[in-house]
Amino acid sequence: MTETGRFAPSPSGRMHLGNLLCSLLAWLSAKQAGGKIVLRIEDLDRARCPRVYADQLEADLARLGLGWDEGGSTGGPNGPYYQSQRDEIYHSYYKKLEEAGLVYPCFCSRAQLHAASAPHREDGTPVYAGLCRGLTHEQRRQKALQRPPAMRLVVPDETIAFTDGHLGRYAENLKTDCGDFVLRRADGVFAYQLAVVVDDALMGVTQVVRGADLLESTPRQLYLYRLLDLPAPRFYHLPLLLAPDGRRLSKRDGDVSLEQLQRKYTPAQIVGRLAFLAGLLEEPEEATPAQLIPVFHWDKVPKTDIRLPKDLF
Ligand code: GLU
Repeated sequence: MTETGRFAPSPSGRMHLGNLLCSLLAWLSAKQAGGKIVLRIEDLDRARCPRVYADQLEADLARLGLGWDEGGSTGGPNGPYYQSQRDEIYHSYYKKLEEAGLVYPCFCSRAQLHAASAPHREDGTPVYAGLCRGLTHEQRRQKALQRPPAMRLVVPDETIAFTDGHLGRYAENLKTDCGDFVLRRADGVFAYQLAVVVDDALMGVTQVVRGADLLESTPRQLYLYRLLDLPAPRFYHLPLLLAPDGRRLSKRDGDVSLEQLQRKYTPAQIVGRLAFLAGLLEEPEEATPAQLIPVFHWDKVPKTDIRLPKDLF
């Protein structure tokens, strides 16, 4: 089977440094294994991800030398490659879970979910305590008259462990660390967790390279792979980039977007600087992605958050 990596951007604006680093390493990891890259546009949130951003993203990737073998507007055998066009596919997998009796409606408001009395993860996000799990048929009918429900997956009290190709072993208890999670939002949009699993499996993805902010989503996704009887890829999570003062980079704070970078640097200068950050080059010299294939190795990539040197960008 051909080794297959992917770019899975959510185009809600121009790419920033974190997206760029992730795209470069996903590309290198797949290409060094003699594999290919699929470009999937994660525009489930249609209002935030208009098509112009996806088109811009393709132009940006191409300019940096990060080509893809199938997907995006290029198309390919496993399309469509825009999540906004894959509703029927998600629905067919969602139905399997529903028919297995594993899905229930949740009418909780945002305020209820975030209530101080609800258990929370370390990062402050609430763990769903199963408030709506035991509603009777009649209660569900009554509540549905007031508001449309989100649909949640029943999770067992089970710890899911896996070995990340870069960060090593990670484990999470589905019930106590996460709780029953949403498969379809109240507005009818299928949730990222379901879409990403179905897409990676149907697109033949064998390796997923992405930011460590998604590490804790992985046990949920592995559980879905198991329930849906789909083959799971290997995962490689990347450390996050921090601003020189130690803050998390964010678009809101105006942190380095590609738009700013392109005014100052050529594509080869941008790629070389990213490779330097990733430990692949000793100096931030110019490089193309193709030139980096022979020097790429996961052992060189830092495992803890990377703080941007002050004058690098
Ligand atoms: N679309 C997600 C993002 O841009 C990435 C999802 C994934 O890699 O699984 O953050």
